[in-house]
Amino acid sequence: MPTLAASHPRPSKAVPAPAYRSLNPYDGKVLKSFETLTNDALEKKISAASLCYETWKHTTYKERASIIERAAVILHKKASEFAHIMTLEMGKRVAEARGEVEFSADILSYYAKNAERFLAPVKLSPTIGTAHMESSPIGVIFAVEPWNFPYYQLARVAGPHLMAGNVLMVKHAGCVPQCGIAFEKLLIEAGAPVGLYTNLLISHLQSDQVIDDPRIKGVALTGSVAAGRSIAARAGINLKVSSMELGGSDAFIVLEDADLEHAVKWAVWGRMYNTGQTCCAAKRFIVVEPVADRFLKKFTEALSALRPGDPLDEKTTLGPLSSEPALQDLLKQVGVAVANGAKVLIGGKRIDRPGSFMEPTVLTEIAPKNPAFRDEFFGPVAMFFRVKNEDEAIALANDSDFGLGGSVFTKDEARGKRVASRVDTGMMFINNLSWSDAELPFGGIKDSGYGRELGDMGIQQFVNKKLVRSVSLEPPV
Ligand code: NAP
Repeated sequence: MPTLAASHPRPSKAVPAPAYRSLNPYDGKVLKSFETLTNDALEKKISAASLCYETWKHTTYKERASIIERAAVILHKKASEFAHIMTLEMGKRVAEARGEVEFSADILSYYAKNAERFLAPVKLSPTIGTAHMESSPIGVIFAVEPWNFPYYQLARVAGPHLMAGNVLMVKHAGCVPQCGIAFEKLLIEAGAPVGLYTNLLISHLQSDQVIDDPRIKGVALTGSVAAGRSIAARAGINLKVSSMELGGSDAFIVLEDADLEHAVKWAVWGRMYNTGQTCCAAKRFIVVEPVADRFLKKFTEALSALRPGDPLDEKTTLGPLSSEPALQDLLKQVGVAVANGAKVLIGGKRIDRPGSFMEPTVLTEIAPKNPAFRDEFFGPVAMFFRVKNEDEAIALANDSDFGLGGSVFTKDEARGKRVASRVDTGMMFINNLSWSDAELPFGGIKDSGYGRELGDMGIQQFVNKKLVRSVSLEPPV
């Protein structure tokens, strides 16, 4: 079998880019740097994963569950420790970080408990004979994951795919290497055999090499549209099944019969949770005329009341962005929006203090020709649109290249459901933004990608659905 080391030219030294570096965005201090793997070391890890698959695929669900459930128990027990690493590396406020760790543990438990049921053979009813579909693992899966939910993203792939009998190799984002390493150690501590879950400190070039490697059977990415285009194309050339969880610019629709206090609370949370760095965050606030002024006043007042501070301090209400480049990119995007006619209602600038902090910002008067109209603002920047009525709100919500999620606020639930059905996204929420639960599928359409993670669907992504048919029949003459 051709190996990665044999099929690609090998540099004699470690591949230099990208740097895997922990840097605290609260004070700009470098915590730790890591070398990327040499191609030789990468080859050894792929071999170990591939070898592990040969035995792991034959394990029972009970045997798999004992490791995955143990990992969940450890995560719960050490939630503060795991959360601390995350807050230091990417600035998530510590209470949110702890919540993410607990949720990640719940996802692992969910698949430990339900995988066997989800993947049980399904009886079919052909007109002659008997038939069933069976689900079997396909091999080593390669996942590329982002920094904004450093553990939740890993649990979303580890829980289902390991329980399905696959083996996982993960390239985590360059700015959260310690989170990536901590999650790998977690699985080892839980009893994972060598090669079952491998954290890879590798460059983009090496990531392509991994995708090309014949021992890799599936590719999962959560990240930007640009990364999606590159990684999906690479997987496509290799005819490998892939799932793409990409960006979003979700609409938050407020109708005239909404409970405004309730809507504003969710609007603030939906834009500011994780300092606005969430794929399915509320990003475009689309409010019908009769309540637009009142909504905007309450929304801007609540945003302006947030106070920047140390994300490790429980009292802080506004954390830093994940990194200085993330802040610079966002400031640049706001600049382009303004240069093209948008108005800054509040905020728009970096906060005058150490660390990568940005003022909560509301942009208005964003015309369709403004690049901002189609952009994803990955941080505390809200776009506000005033529309005449429900139909205009839906048309505007659908005028987006993205199709991840969205929400609608109305006291009339039936009306909420009608609106939800007419918005072209993978997920819609009525009077709430409870984006993610272990048992509910998560994912989008259009530039937001394809495939679903979590729930029953999340475990079906990388399994072979095999038809087995039995019938007493002579071949046709
Ligand atoms: P990103 O630049 O695409 O990075 C995400 C991951 O992809 C990182 O591990 C990154 O590695 C890697 N990567 C990027 N380009 C690559 C390439 N050509 N080859 C191999 N690996 C590559 O995304 P981001 O800007 O950091 O993350 C935020 C984006 O993710 C937003 O658009 C957000 O909406 C989206 N997101 C989507 C979901 C979802 O479920 N739909 C969830 C969370 C985030 P390096 O760090 O080493 O560059």
